Amino acid sequence: MDYIVLDMEWNQPWPGSPSARKVLPVQIRGEILQIGAVRITPEQQVADEFQVLIRPKYYRRLNRRVSKLTGIKEAQLREEGLPMVEAMERFRSWCGEDVTFLTWGFDDITILRENLRLYGMDESWVNRWFNAQMIFNAQTDGSTSQKSLKSAMEAFGIEASRPAHDALGDAYHTALICARLDLEKGTREYTQALQSHVEGFHGAELPGCLSRKVFYDYKDKRAALSAMAGSENKCPICSRQMLGSRWFAQPGHRYMDLAACPEHGKFLIRVRLSEQPEGLVRVSRLTYEATSEAAQAYARRVEKAEPEGKRPGSRRRRRSRLTENLE
Ligand SMILES: [Zn+2]
Repeated sequence: MDYIVLDMEWNQPWPGSPSARKVLPVQIRGEILQIGAVRITPEQQVADEFQVLIRPKYYRRLNRRVSKLTGIKEAQLREEGLPMVEAMERFRSWCGEDVTFLTWGFDDITILRENLRLYGMDESWVNRWFNAQMIFNAQTDGSTSQKSLKSAMEAFGIEASRPAHDALGDAYHTALICARLDLEKGTREYTQALQSHVEGFHGAELPGCLSRKVFYDYKDKRAALSAMAGSENKCPICSRQMLGSRWFAQPGHRYMDLAACPEHGKFLIRVRLSEQPEGLVRVSRLTYEATSEAAQAYARRVEKAEPEGKRPGSRRRRRSRLTENLE
């Protein structure tokens, strides 16, 4: 079975422009302008290439940021761009039957499927796809962050030989990376790689971290935080429910709190909230030792956040209590 390394460039309406207010039959995050693809054989040889420009139908005015980044011009799309349906038919027939798609990131396949749906076209042929970043991480340093194409190329000592932010150029460089990975193993163990990405705190994890866990499907922020302070507030040692004190907000939908187990003492809890596709809330939760740097940062934060209307002297009390907590 061939692998198809896919990269696309797409257009988005300029915020506030008439296009941005258009209601499309299917919501899309971007309208595809260019498809670049490179085949990798089952023996992991980089093989033939495909490229097509597409004339946009819904967002015809080219976003100047997109134009600057990709070098694509409106006139060029009018002259050389194919209508979406024709471009897709060509692409599908070049791919052939029963292929596996590889992309750098999660966006390309999502946008491809949205665009196919917008035109009422079959999307079943793009069902089998993998984000090559996850395979790259699993087979290199095991990190959970999404690396840029450039840094992955550097890690493998691959020199750029094609233009960046050109669909075929990016697809070609991605293919060079993919050809050095064990794709058979990577796709077989993909679920696991994806899970470690999801569970990861994406580079924000600090020393002294004892555990991390991801929770899903809270109806809003309040429900999520209340579960984190209540039923899900478990001691990392004995799993008994801990008592929380007060959530402190941090930038990026993050919150922290100092929780206590009657037997094992204090732990710093850090959570990060993010929105799931259906509007529900997902929580990534980290538990730190109370002596960790992160917990000390919390203590400093609490000290600074002087609650209003406090009696004189409360500041000192608060500080001494926290110092005890950290010992
Ligand atoms: Zn405990």
